[in-house]
Amino acid sequence: DLWHSRGHLHFDRVEFGYGTGKTILPDFTLDIPAGQTIALVGTTGAGKSTLAKLVSRFYDPTSGSLRLDGVDLRQLHPKDLRRAIVMVTQEAYLFSGTVADNIALGKPSATMEEIRAAAEAVGADSFITSLPDGYDTDVNKRGGRVSAGQRQLISFARAFLADPAVLILDEATASLDMPSERMIQEALQTLLADRTAIIIAHRLSTVAIADRVLVMEHGRIIEDDDPDTL
Ligand code: ATP
Ligand code: MG
Repeated sequence: DLWHSRGHLHFDRVEFGYGTGKTILPDFTLDIPAGQTIALVGTTGAGKSTLAKLVSRFYDPTSGSLRLDGVDLRQLHPKDLRRAIVMVTQEAYLFSGTVADNIALGKPSATMEEIRAAAEAVGADSFITSLPDGYDTDVNKRGGRVSAGQRQLISFARAFLADPAVLILDEATASLDMPSERMIQEALQTLLADRTAIIIAHRLSTVAIADRVLVMEHGRIIEDDDPDTL
């Protein structure tokens, strides 16, 4: 009875503007086969985040359509859409509550074992268990403070637990130290396996692990290559 998306995304002549008179995406067509990892790059204001917001249905196209497995996103049940498409933002928000609560946001019915397994999968388990109260550490309490890299790992664990067919990631621009950077990169590879992903990429190492790199300018794709050719 539960609908399972395969993760095939298709933008069909999508036009979009924020209603300010300026067209951000004039005529956007793109096919993303199920399971493909896209790195989206381009100058500021090109429309990368706008594209991500359309996939997450913060906004709908002015004209044209965006389809998941052939179904217009507007026709999907909101619950199915939320399960199928998950967006991880730059800020990697943590909400008040424990580390476990924050991971469980990905799947409210999750057991402690599932939460722990998700954290282990993305390599977050070791730092979490070293916190004063482990998984029960309140993220807002003294001693529960987590670094930018650790916050990112928690949000990856959350997304891993949610297990969406499509993952949208607006990569953090904040620079991390080398060990954190490597951890994030490894976590990312685990997170990307067996799902479709669009990553607004700021790191060269992320572009390198993508199947396909799209360069955007003024709401259009000006380059569409595999990472080796760039
Ligand atoms: P960056 O690399 O700086 O994040 P981006 O490629 O993500 O840039 P977008 O955020 O998609 O670019 O912005 C594309 C255009 O849409 C810009 O001209 C921006 O000013 C405009 N824009 C973005 N959000 C809004 C909004 N909420 N209302 C009106 N215009 C917006
Ligand atoms: Mg952006």
